[in-house]
Amino acid sequence: MIPAILPTYNRAPLAFERGEGSWLVAEDGQRYLDLAAGIAVNALGHAHPKLVQVLAEQGAKLWHVSNIYRVPQQEALAALLVEHSFADTVFFTNSGTEACELAVKMARKHFSASAPERTRILAFNGAFHGRSSAAIAASGSEKMVKGFGPLLPGFAQFEFGGEEVFEALKAPDVAAVMVEPIQGEGGIRAAEDGWLKRLRGACDEAGVLLILDEVQCGMGRTGRLFAHEWAGITPDIMMVAKGIGGGFPLGAVLATEGAAKEMTAGSHGSTYGGNPLGCAIGTAVTEIITGPGFLDEVNRKASLLRQSLEGLVAAHPEVFEEVRGSGLMLGLKCKAANTDIVQAGYGAHVLTVAAADNVLRLLPALTISDDEIAEAVTRLETAARTVEAAQ
Ligand SMILES: *Cc1c(COP(=O)(O)O)cnc(C)c1O
Repeated sequence: MIPAILPTYNRAPLAFERGEGSWLVAEDGQRYLDLAAGIAVNALGHAHPKLVQVLAEQGAKLWHVSNIYRVPQQEALAALLVEHSFADTVFFTNSGTEACELAVKMARKHFSASAPERTRILAFNGAFHGRSSAAIAASGSEKMVKGFGPLLPGFAQFEFGGEEVFEALKAPDVAAVMVEPIQGEGGIRAAEDGWLKRLRGACDEAGVLLILDEVQCGMGRTGRLFAHEWAGITPDIMMVAKGIGGGFPLGAVLATEGAAKEMTAGSHGSTYGGNPLGCAIGTAVTEIITGPGFLDEVNRKASLLRQSLEGLVAAHPEVFEEVRGSGLMLGLKCKAANTDIVQAGYGAHVLTVAAADNVLRLLPALTISDDEIAEAVTRLETAARTVEAAQ
């Protein structure tokens, strides 16, 4: 018999009742050190006092009004994001997938009058952009598209970090290139800065838009507000979600005026997107991440964690192969099965996430402490020993 919850997830037999910073407390009172953070969503940890306060205050005043009215909380968050990024304008969504939908629509609309043949979006192998028809067509992966055809047309995939895309994007039917600066689901695979720079240059030369998917790697995760800042480039359109709401469902598309100017009244909308409650929380999250010294601390803790993980890999060469990624978006490429290590982690009370390419993902709260980093590595070591003993 089918369970009451559609069984699309293979769930671990754990249920949490409470969260405190980098810790999750299970129904039986057991405490788990959370290096998953809701898959890079709980950027400020669980139950951050400021976010709890904003949620309670805004929750007592006004949750939702339609976008047929002005929403001051939305205006405040948009202004903050514009101030701290390349963008001139922002549209709020409830998720990364919806941000992907708008990014695709915006790119196509951009050319619809001036060059209507430009509809194709070039994306990359290993990419993850969400689960909508457009997002799975963009990723093109067998696992995501199988059985869901006919696929939305107008997408093609190329080798991530490879050369073919540079020739392909010169075709006259290309509207945009869509890429994650660091692939998350794909296995914490970081694009090289030089490749991203060349991609930006090639898009400019061909008159093609560059869409960056920073749903996972954005909002301070890599030690800069947005990952593309490390490469010294800016996109035309960018998708954001996950960390921006700190756990409240919130996403956004950020864009330059040039890319966005065809999106006129009536061309797009959302019932919930940009509601006062979500935007009040998003503003609090963004103010904290862009606040004095916050990202310096992320960078300091990131190098501490990375160094400790290098030691862990060296001490357990049968289990781990290398550390990859950037900031607090780190991956351990595994020799043992990554899912076995995730499983052993549950026993050691440390939570991690599997990713493609046999990688163990570590996406702790950006507020994780030095002591918690040391504790995390100790617990990962316990998990590694468990896996070794079973080998
Ligand atoms: C999670 C994710 C998405 C999809 O976001 P949802 O909020 O799950 O719809 C899109 N792109 C990337 C890079 C992601 O990590």
